Amino acid sequence: MSTLYIVATPIGNLQDLSPRAVEVLKSVDYIACEDTRTSGNMLQQFGIDKPSFSFHQHNEHRKVGHMTNILDAAQNVALVSDAGMPGISDPGFLAVRAAKQSGHTVTVIPGPDAATTALIASGLPSDRYVFEGFLPHKKGRQKRLKQLAEEERTLIIYESPNRLLKLLGELEKYFENDRLAAVARELTKKFEETVRGSIVELKKEFEERDSIKGEIVVVISGKGYSE
Ligand code: SAM
Repeated sequence: MSTLYIVATPIGNLQDLSPRAVEVLKSVDYIACEDTRTSGNMLQQFGIDKPSFSFHQHNEHRKVGHMTNILDAAQNVALVSDAGMPGISDPGFLAVRAAKQSGHTVTVIPGPDAATTALIASGLPSDRYVFEGFLPHKKGRQKRLKQLAEEERTLIIYESPNRLLKLLGELEKYFENDRLAAVARELTKKFEETVRGSIVELKKEFEERDSIKGEIVVVISGKGYSE
């Protein structure tokens, strides 16, 4: 029986890679990377030099067999994504399922993820929350937004910078305009910010900016929440 390690990596600040993560990455036989070049840069900075193979959303169905073959050959594998926790809007679930089905041990090395970091930074209720990841771009988007407008738990949505204004416009349309929300941008990085306000205020704030760059999480309070 071998071990598949699911290793969380930084979402911006390299110092967030835990000592345990480094130890595990140094100990395994192979590292499966969402992008071998991106992770290679990070691994190099920690003096980690291991055989790696790519494991991303376009090849994970194919590569999962390769991964279990390695585990079956009594070799340990670590899976990392470009940033944060594998399996959170990133490949991970298929690997964990396959490793468990083949009788191997799965050990998660916890660490940063953008969703919970944004949730706590937002100052919105964190006792109950719903992670939506990226909303569908086209089909089913309106229906999902209408459903989410009724949700009483805090919502967490991943969004790209060039679609933020579109999303805020949709929230304005489907949610109450005074609903409290927050836009968390570039978390753990140099220009990190978390802007909090009503949906209308947030839309105005970001419309007035010359450009919107970086990585973004939108957190929205649940229906009925007020301060
Ligand atoms: N696995 C990652 C995690 O644990 O959060 C998420 C990967 S997903 C492909 C990438 C999205 O996560 C970005 O588009 C953005 O919504 C969010 N994200 C990642 N890093 C971020 C950061 N430093 N600040 C804000 N959002 C971030």
